[in-house]
Order: sequence, then C-alpha cells, then structure tokens
Amino acid sequence: MSFIRLRGVGVSPGIGMGEIALTERALFTSAKERVASSRVDEEVRRFKKAVERTRNELLHLKQEVKEKMGEEHAFIFDAHLLILEDQSLLSAIERIVGQEKVRAEWALTQVNKKYQELFDSIADDYFRQRKSDVSDVLARIYGNLELKRKKRLDSNNSKKLILIAHDLLPSEAAMTLSVGNVLAVAMDMGGSTSHTAILARSLNIPAVVGLHNVTQQVKRGDYLIVDGTDGEVIINPPPVVKKEFQSKKEKYEHYYRELKKTARLQSVTQDQVKFYTLANIELPEEVGMAFSFGAEGIGLFRSEFIYLQSETLPTEADHYSVYSRIAKAAYPAPVYIRTVDIGGDKSLPQLKIEKEPNPALGLRAIRLSLANQDVFKVQLRAILRASSLKNVRILIPMVTEVEEIFEFKLLFEEVKLELERERVKFDKQIQTGVMIEVPAAAAITDILAKEVDFLSIGTNDLIQYYLAVDRTNEFVSYLYKPLHPSVLRLIKFIIQAALREGKDVTVCGEMAAHPLSALILLGFGLRKFSMNPIFIPRVKNTLRSVELRTVEKIVEEALSLNTAQDIEEHVIEKILAKHPKAFLLGQVM
Ligand code: PEP
Ligand code: MG
Repeated sequence: MSFIRLRGVGVSPGIGMGEIALTERALFTSAKERVASSRVDEEVRRFKKAVERTRNELLHLKQEVKEKMGEEHAFIFDAHLLILEDQSLLSAIERIVGQEKVRAEWALTQVNKKYQELFDSIADDYFRQRKSDVSDVLARIYGNLELKRKKRLDSNNSKKLILIAHDLLPSEAAMTLSVGNVLAVAMDMGGSTSHTAILARSLNIPAVVGLHNVTQQVKRGDYLIVDGTDGEVIINPPPVVKKEFQSKKEKYEHYYRELKKTARLQSVTQDQVKFYTLANIELPEEVGMAFSFGAEGIGLFRSEFIYLQSETLPTEADHYSVYSRIAKAAYPAPVYIRTVDIGGDKSLPQLKIEKEPNPALGLRAIRLSLANQDVFKVQLRAILRASSLKNVRILIPMVTEVEEIFEFKLLFEEVKLELERERVKFDKQIQTGVMIEVPAAAAITDILAKEVDFLSIGTNDLIQYYLAVDRTNEFVSYLYKPLHPSVLRLIKFIIQAALREGKDVTVCGEMAAHPLSALILLGFGLRKFSMNPIFIPRVKNTLRSVELRTVEKIVEEALSLNTAQDIEEHVIEKILAKHPKAFLLGQVM
C-alpha cells in the first residue's frame, strides 16, 4: 500500500481519518448512437418517462432530507424540481432527439455541454459553481433513462467512512452527508463556495476539494486522512503520521468545542457594553448553522446566487421562496437582504450586459439595478412580500451618490403601491439601508444617513476603491491593508458620522471577522459585526474579553502611528498586557 500526500483546497476545517467509500454517479456519454426515424417518438417517450421518474425521485429525496436534516437543507430539491419544470431545457433535448435522430443519452450530453459552457463564460467563481445544479438534474434524468436498480451511497451502512468522489452533485451531497456516517469528504473537483463545501461546513464534516485525481489514486480498503484545515489528503499513512494527525484531530476537536461554548455566551464586553454578532450567508441552508455559531441575525444575505438557479432570469416566485425561507428560519431575528450585486466582472448572460473596459468601475450593483428597473422590481416585490413577518430589512449595494437613493425610493414606493392595490401583505415600515463601499459615499455618510434607516460598511470593496488595490489581484495584495492608517481614519469617520445622525451602523466586510480589526472597530463605536458564521465565536471571544474603555484608549493611541504594522503591533501588545486571554481563539489579520 503506497503512502501518498495530496494537496487540495480545505473548505471545511477539521480532520477525518478512516477507510474510504467511493461514490458512483451517472456519467454522460461520448457515443452518438442513432435511432431509426420510426423509433424517434418512442425515444422521446423514454426520455419523458425518465423525467417523470426523476421528479418522483427528487420529491422522495426532498422528504427524506427534510426529515433527517430539516427544511432548510431540503431546499436544493425545490431548486432542482424547478429546473425540471424548465420547458426550454426539456424541449431542447427532445428537439435534438427528433432532428438528429439520436438516443436521448446523446441529446442530454449535448445540452449539458451547452449549459456548462454558458456557465463557464461567467467570470465570477461563485456563479460558475452553480452550473452543477443543472448538471445534477440532467445526470439524474440520464440515470433514469435505463431502469436498472440504482446503488445508493452506503446509506444503510453504519460503518463510518471517508467519502471520495469526483464531484458530488448538490443533491447527492445533501443526501449522503445527512446520513451521519461520513467522517470526511475528499473530491477531485469543487471550490469553496460549492454546495458540498457549504453543506460540509454547516454539518461540521471536514472536507478537501480540488484534488484533481484523488479518485484515481485510491482503491477500496485504503485508509485515508483528510485534513480540511490545511487542505491535505494522505493515503495509507505510516503509523507515525497517523499518530501526528490523531493528535492534531484531538486539538481541533477541543478547539471546536470551545467555539461552540463561546457561541452560546452573551455578547457583552467586560464592562457590560452590548455588541451584536451577525452572519453573512449566501444560501438559505446556512441559517441553522449561523445561529448555532452564535449569530444574532443575518447581517448580510448576498442575493446573487438566486440568479443562477435557472438559465432564464429568476421569477418573483424564485426570489420569494428563498427570502421567505430565510426570514422564517431566522425569525424573530433580523435579516438584511442585499439587493443583487452583479455587473462589472460578475456578468450574467441573462442580462446581456455589454463588456466593459474597466468592470470594477462599471455598471455594477445598484447602478445595474436602476438601469434595468423591470428586473429590479421583481426582486423588490419578492423582498417586500417576504417582509410580512417584520424581520426583513433591505440593503442597497455600491451607492455612490444620494440621487441613487432618491431614485430607489421612487421605485420602491411604486412597488409598494402595486402590492397594496393587489392586497398583498408586507411590512409597511420595512427599514432601508445602504452599503458604504465607495469612498465618495463614505465622505457623504451624513447626507446618506439622513435618507435611510441604517448603514452597512462593506470594507472589502471600500478598501479596494480607497487604496486603489484590486481585492482579487495577488500582485498587489501586499498593499491591501485593512489597518492602513488612512483606512482606519476613514472608517472611524463613517461610524461616527452615522452615530451622530442616530443611525444604526454595521460592518459586514472581512474586517468584522478578524479579532484585531474588530477590536479597533469596537473602539471607533461600532456595535454590530456581520461575518461568515464560522468566525463569530473567535470575534465574540475577543470582544467579550476586553473592557471598552481600555480599547478606546489603545485605539486612539494607534491612530497616531504611521504604518499598518506599527498599528497592529501596538494594539496586540497593549491589549494582551491588559487582557491576556483576548486572542485565545486566534488573532489572525
Ligand atoms: C464588501 O464589499 O465588504 C461586502 C461585504 O460585499 P461583497 O464582499 O459581497 O462585495
Ligand atoms: Mg462589496
């Protein structure tokens, strides 16, 4: 048994060790098999039967997952059932069978290829990964063309195993990971925002993806270590390596228990100042996990993913189904739904956006929404309808000038009037806020604050635009410094201007997720921190360990220093001198 170490992308932390289980899945065909003209109708009927079987299978799986994991995880099957309703998709397959006189297997393969190419042309990574939903449904239909007994992933097997797959279909991921006998996941394909990654994180199953060929390197009976923290997979480790990882595993499990304990504690500083930890999420399935990590609400729901559920633009029902699901799952805690932030480099084929020479400075987010008001109204109607529980707030991204708020309000009022005429219930007092992520908006925080109910600072974009450093460009990443004195001065200015206007202010960029920068934000007067749920315990631990008065003094001193490095060193040294346990769960910057 050979000992092999593979590097991939760790997408769900922790360590799993054990024997492997390999998944089997429907593969598309490379053989263009023809049928006689007289058999074409029969072939179409065979395809339609497979679609029907797929529908029944999805309904059954949905019920099973709902019982085992709860309503929010069964949502993926609704999305898949919707794809199955897409007449343009199904008739494209029937057309190929009829026109080219080929077997349905070939037609399905062609249509799948076309969709994959379409999704691949989208620059945004998160969007690209949603293509697997369409592929998932098509693969299921493919598997149902032949009536052979399908092998289910060892769901009746009580033995705990490491799951190895080329690429898990989202529905397969929901089904297999929910069974409770998966120790860890290792996949050839995938990225950090894939469904499998999100599910694995929310179920606390270690996972490494993007391993390229792990399925070819292993065979039944092999023993594996999957290190989801460092993105490593080890096949047939010698005893000494096994021992090393056993102790790493125990350390991580201890750390995880500490995180969970901290998650349940109150969000107050040593001198009893209340602060709030909120969650940034991208899928409705994440709500449960967010609360289990100590979220006191959903501070940012990035609505972009809804646009990827189908080839056409999402309908009001598509939007509503997602928003109402989140609002119900989080109730009575607040949910801040951000209107779509696409355009620029995150293009959408459905909208036929022109290619722009400088997309980061182009028709993005609210600019794009205001330029496509009919599309925007569909989203606004759905958000309003989901607000009837009164815990929904609406957040506008990338605002540059106050005129955009005026224009938004006109449209919003129009939509509200329409709903009133239709006697549809919604929250008439729904709160509206804007993201501060363009430096020009930061400078007029007072003007914008007067027009809205709350502000949310998107430090990821704000830093990129303020420092003129592309947030995704590795060549200039050394300049992307959240603790740059100019960034800190600007953020202090925004927070204090918002507070002077008596408006609520949150930070929902990465700065809220790092204990050190969160401390500085606390010192500036911030009380609402929204972040990836997994980081809530460590931020909570830090803010709970300190005394606001001390932090304010240290932060004030730090602002007189000249460089990001001096600031970082000063804050760490002074905080640790006074509160030695402040960074117990990590202090990463
Ligand atoms: C931000 O810019 O800080 C933000 C939260 O928005 P996004 O990361 O989605 O651009
Ligand atoms: Mg942003």
